[in-house]
Amino acid sequence: MTEKKYYLTTPLYYVNAKPHIGHAYTNVLCDTFARYRRFLGEDVFFLTGTDEHGTKIEKAAREQSKDPRTYVDEMVPQFKSLWETLGIQYDYFIRTTDEAHKKSVQNILKDLEAKGEIYKASYKGWYCTPCESFWTKLQLKEGKCPDCGRDVQELSEENYFFKLSKYQDWLIKYIQENDFIRPEIRKNEILGFLREPLEDLCITRPRARLAWGIDYPNSKDHVVYVWFDALINYISAAGFMADDKKFRTLWPADLQVVGKDILRQHAVYWPIMLKACGVEMPKLVLAHGWWTMEGAKVSKSRGNAVDPIELVKKYSVDALRYFLMREVTIGNDGAFSEDLLAERYTSDLANDLGNLWFRFTSMLEKYFAGAIPALEKTGEKEPLLSASFKLWEKVTPLMVAYDPREALAVVWSVIVMANQFVEEKKPWVLAKDPAKKAGLSQALAVLGEAVIHIAVILLAFMPATAAKILERSQLPKEWIVKTEKDFARTFLKSGTKIERGEALFPRLEEIK
Ligand SMILES: [Zn+2]
Repeated sequence: MTEKKYYLTTPLYYVNAKPHIGHAYTNVLCDTFARYRRFLGEDVFFLTGTDEHGTKIEKAAREQSKDPRTYVDEMVPQFKSLWETLGIQYDYFIRTTDEAHKKSVQNILKDLEAKGEIYKASYKGWYCTPCESFWTKLQLKEGKCPDCGRDVQELSEENYFFKLSKYQDWLIKYIQENDFIRPEIRKNEILGFLREPLEDLCITRPRARLAWGIDYPNSKDHVVYVWFDALINYISAAGFMADDKKFRTLWPADLQVVGKDILRQHAVYWPIMLKACGVEMPKLVLAHGWWTMEGAKVSKSRGNAVDPIELVKKYSVDALRYFLMREVTIGNDGAFSEDLLAERYTSDLANDLGNLWFRFTSMLEKYFAGAIPALEKTGEKEPLLSASFKLWEKVTPLMVAYDPREALAVVWSVIVMANQFVEEKKPWVLAKDPAKKAGLSQALAVLGEAVIHIAVILLAFMPATAAKILERSQLPKEWIVKTEKDFARTFLKSGTKIERGEALFPRLEEIK
């Protein structure tokens, strides 16, 4: 039997606009989880991709006088290039316009029809074009779209419906009995939503109104609703109904990260679709919050999008990764401002971590010609050394619980401790007294181990910075640390030359 992989997914990003900080946040979180699992020696499959059908894409293409296919082909590279800039190591990039995906959606629809899970009916409703949502009269708020408050159009048409309502009781019970939705506040929100009767889901659009979609298998007049199409990517990319062996090693997904605005699709439609297909539930749906600017959600439509590539150019990729994960607890909203990013950069990165590296390497150069002294028994007793050895043991449970913010707080407590250690030991005083030579070499040996342990534990969070430290210390950049014992030990060989190199985080005055 093949071993189950750790399978995590990002939402598929809708390509009607270029990616902003919100997209960057989701993928930085997922990338950090994926890297941490690889660091633990797990076999990871990390899926991301793009959602490319539907009215909004058709409209965006039309506005640029392009056919939708040309339009999406031009948009996708913008996402891929952002992932490259941010160091996102995904294993597979799926596009909902991929032939294999389209085929998978059609196979699933045929199967659901055969099982009696789909029926055709005439439908009267109110349609919000920007949201691509049909609403019943009861759902409208003062005659407007309940999601965005815009005008709606009355429509009557024949469509195909998926029997969501049939599974309502099952879903409520499933959510109550399983740790399926996090955080708790979102789980309760979904349970609250499920107190009202669930309506069946309209899963097609008449071709006359929308041509840019997957052909509905049994009707020439319909295309598949974009959400129904997009959700299926998580199993189509995993080989469902195409490659059984692959599917068995990947599914169920271990983690599906989504923004809180698309939780209903992932916590109501999606589990019911899987249930109807006879497929196991994903283990966890984790909903993160929004980044806001002056109180409003960052999005293209609100015109306040922040360009993550500009931020990376100015502050470095690791600074942005660090900020996004350190600033907010997953699930809460975060207020984005460049001032806050600059503040974190200066205090946590330039002053704490950057300065630690600078002091350590400068003293090593000055007193030991850059060669790390051997660690003796006296050094082994230092609390800084044991705190460094314990980093893996403390950070791992936090990362398994998907709390990178707290994990970084733990790492930073050791960074702060290491800087205090320098203040207390005062190596520059020890260096003046030949009788204190042993104390000086122990101080630097302990400090060196602390710095390396910090770098190794940061590999998943700030891969570029961690790699710089390890390279300059002649240590490998790829690490697998499966057990506490693998980490709670010395990493540096005495006599190893350590190079100071350029500042890890140059002062902002120097880069502005
Ligand atoms: Zn709307």
